[in-house]
Amino acid sequence: MPDDMIPKLRTPDLPKPGPRRPLSRHEYAELFLAQMGKCFHCGARLAKGNVIDEHLVPRESLTADKCDDLENRKLFCKPCAKAKTVGDAAIVAKTRRLTGGRGSQYAKRQARGGSSIKGRGFQKRPDGATSWPKRSFGRKA
Ligand SMILES: [Zn+2]
Repeated sequence: MPDDMIPKLRTPDLPKPGPRRPLSRHEYAELFLAQMGKCFHCGARLAKGNVIDEHLVPRESLTADKCDDLENRKLFCKPCAKAKTVGDAAIVAKTRRLTGGRGSQYAKRQARGGSSIKGRGFQKRPDGATSWPKRSFGRKA
């Protein structure tokens, strides 16, 4: 069977989001005007010191090139932002577990220095060659 007929079981590992990119002053103003100075969730007037820019889809569940897109960001008042963050915690935790990020079994195992289950390895050929001859199982070549 040719290689291209074998179904791909895994998606490629896409770059994971790095540190959160803060909004520029221009982006902040753009969002503020688009929302007419109101919280995206409750509609309360956004006052200075009571504004947090939120990611509608948690950035941890997106790839690095899309996670900080402006379309995915809205301005929330602090109480709404806090409630949203609490609600997103499960999604963020599951994404981290599945992608091998912080808190995943893979990350914990790597921190311990790898698996404690060791294989016995492969026998070396006495003549130093790297592969064993293929067996024909009685077939004639
Ligand atoms: Zn609000």
